[in-house]
Amino acid sequence: MTTVVEIENLSKRFVIRKEKSLKERVVNFGRSQKFKEDFWALRDVDVAIEAGTTVGLIGPNGSGKSTLLKMIGGILQPDQGSVRIRGRLAALLELGAGFHPDLTGRENVYLNASILGISREQTDKYFDAIVEFSGIEKFIDTQVKFYSSGMYVRLAFAVAVHVDPDILLVDEVLAVGDEPFQRKCLERIRQFQAEGRTIVLVTHSLEQVAEFCDRAIVLEHGRVIEDGSPRDALRALRADFEETRVAEQERKAAASGVEQPVARFAGISLRSESGQTSEITLSPGEGLHVAMEITSDRLLEGAVIEIGVTTSMGTTLYMTSTTMLDRELGPLKDVTRCAFYLHSLHLGPDEYAVRATLRDGAGTELHHVPVAATFSVSGDGQSLGPVRTPADFVIN
Ligand code: ADP
Ligand code: MG
Repeated sequence: MTTVVEIENLSKRFVIRKEKSLKERVVNFGRSQKFKEDFWALRDVDVAIEAGTTVGLIGPNGSGKSTLLKMIGGILQPDQGSVRIRGRLAALLELGAGFHPDLTGRENVYLNASILGISREQTDKYFDAIVEFSGIEKFIDTQVKFYSSGMYVRLAFAVAVHVDPDILLVDEVLAVGDEPFQRKCLERIRQFQAEGRTIVLVTHSLEQVAEFCDRAIVLEHGRVIEDGSPRDALRALRADFEETRVAEQERKAAASGVEQPVARFAGISLRSESGQTSEITLSPGEGLHVAMEITSDRLLEGAVIEIGVTTSMGTTLYMTSTTMLDRELGPLKDVTRCAFYLHSLHLGPDEYAVRATLRDGAGTELHHVPVAATFSVSGDGQSLGPVRTPADFVIN
């Protein structure tokens, strides 16, 4: 396979000024280094992207996704390392990048195309299609600074996909457009995939990653923490979000002086009906036993346990609780062992996870474990998808 984007040991540093007020700036003028701080937005990034693949770039806000995309697009220069590109590249970057606010939509189309190395004559040929795709004919001779963000994105996307790029970079901006336009863009992206073009997509929609991408890269604090199948990447990202959430919760609790939760899950384990306890693969319709141990520092009355079965993308397929099953957990103190029996799981062949939440009598979450354990379900070759149902086919 041909590598079309080759990123080696890439680092990008921004200098952040520390002064806060204008007065401080004036006072500190010229005393440069002391009041500046280096900040590495990207650190030692190594990525090679093969022709014809769609790669998702995901990560928390501020993790460096847009910076990396701009570096691939040649808009930012590396402080260390290199970026090499093979082929024509078109980019739909953050709002504000790419278009000149004082020029009209029409002028920006020509400007943009010429930056991509497309002649005026060629642009003439594409022009009507671009405007039609954008759906903003009425405003094409209006200065871009009067556009709404939605109009801006419409025109920018229309230009990006009409200039015949080998590599298309798309930042989160697609989320700005309305639903019909988003759908139109995603259809176009699908068409690009079918034509064997290469796409790098930054998105907050994990469904889009699962649906469109062959591969996903997770950035965190400017470093690649996962690069692999969308499934592995989403798992890493979710674990990351969960860590942040727990840390935030603990920080808040510590700051407010509230005591740490009194009770938590000390362990959660699965057993299949047939007795497997690790690397469980359920046969179609087999039951699952979810055992748990809860520790509690002091006596806790009225607690409730919720459990759920999720896809590996985190979508809950099933949930139940002690309340819904009309069961009392009884007072918790020291160690309590209990279990849920899911008698017959009608799940299709795939990997799944069990999540669990412990709440006090008032419904306040004491402990939440998004992925307590995982298991697989084998197929019988008769269906795909998370739901299993007996099926037949007849000709009448
Ligand atoms: P993401 O797209 O993942 O949300 P960005 O790539 O936009 O993140 O930003 C990564 C980090 O770099 C952020 O902390 C952001 O504040 C910082 N950053 C981005 N651009 C600049 C800049 N021009 N000057 C200073 N800091 C910047
Ligand atoms: Mg961004």
